[in-house]
Amino acid sequence: MKLVIKQLLDGSCRLGQLTELGRHTGRVIDVPGCLMYTRGASAPHLTQDMAKTIDKLPFGIQLTLPTLAENHEVIEDYKLGIGSFTSQQDSLLFLSVQDPGTTIPSGYNEKQFVSIWTTGGRMRLSTATFTTMLKNMKPDWFECLYDGDVVPGTASKKRIRKSVDRTLQYLDDCLEVQQNSPELKNIEVFGVIEGGDSHDERIRSAKETAKRPLSGFVLDGFQSDALATDVKQNLMMSVLKELPEDKPRLIHGCGRPDQVMQAVELGIDVFDSAFPYSVTESGCALVFPFSYNHQSNVDSAVLEQSTDQEKSNYVNDNKAGISRYEINLTNESYKSDFTPLLADCKCYSCQNHTKAYINHLLVTKELLARVLLMIHNFHHYFEFFETIRQSIRDDKFQQLKKIIMDST
Ligand SMILES: [Zn+2]
Repeated sequence: MKLVIKQLLDGSCRLGQLTELGRHTGRVIDVPGCLMYTRGASAPHLTQDMAKTIDKLPFGIQLTLPTLAENHEVIEDYKLGIGSFTSQQDSLLFLSVQDPGTTIPSGYNEKQFVSIWTTGGRMRLSTATFTTMLKNMKPDWFECLYDGDVVPGTASKKRIRKSVDRTLQYLDDCLEVQQNSPELKNIEVFGVIEGGDSHDERIRSAKETAKRPLSGFVLDGFQSDALATDVKQNLMMSVLKELPEDKPRLIHGCGRPDQVMQAVELGIDVFDSAFPYSVTESGCALVFPFSYNHQSNVDSAVLEQSTDQEKSNYVNDNKAGISRYEINLTNESYKSDFTPLLADCKCYSCQNHTKAYINHLLVTKELLARVLLMIHNFHHYFEFFETIRQSIRDDKFQQLKKIIMDST
């Protein structure tokens, strides 16, 4: 895997492409970009045919190990790997150790094992178990095992140090197996950077990880809201300074539009798309505008096109802890709202259905509700990433950032 940087804004914000993607000759991934989040190797709630109809569907997909690990013996018997097993062989398959779409219980990692949580409960992964699963699944790209169980503000310095030490040990153990295994030799490997909220440990983790022969890096531990935005940004900046500029950087759990803009500005290249999934699970739809050719901010843009009742819902949703980028379709007032989820949206759901219908489906607990919301939320999110890239090309990144950040 190679990162080709085509444009650099303010010394850190990068526009480019990931190239030389192994068996996918001639294919590229545009960055900044996101991978498609999957559960059981499929887009949540959607058949593959439905997912393929979504505009700007990412070529890279994120396989989440906790949603696959229980079936690894079946995949071993199948022998051709997870891509063929799930008919996803045309995509670039990235395997993540944890599932960013769920909350991971704390306190279950041990010196030799990382815990993941499957539908059947806790599974303990040693380097040997993990690398055996990799050999059976045959992804194109994976991250090494890591101990990311350090809750900001709660984890002691000793625990943070231990998480960095263990993660480096897992990295060396995984690399040793990978380099001596014909099945794993050609798979791209990313190392994971830990360090919680400790500046020193973050730097140590980044410096040490950068010494290893890796295709790129993963920044973990930035998903918690317990870390203040400025602290997160300072930690992120310190880490990125220690990493080689010519290798890609992926971040976990940083999916809210304002967080994405801040991370892109600092030099993060790849994101996951668990955010639109969690919005869907809450019965919500993404409605934030990202057209940087007009001057309105999020609140005014959402409110301008809204009825009085919607304005009241929007304010109430914000009070209820729903992010400012979404509306909650379970709200009773949408019962007789016959407009699409978002005016001018070109997705299947908005072209064919109304808020009232989706409200009805949610109230009657029909599975179709989340199918329609997932289509819209993925469509909107993937368009957002395309717009980020275009804004860098147009030298309008700051205009777009202002629209996204000016929403409170
Ligand atoms: Zn839509």
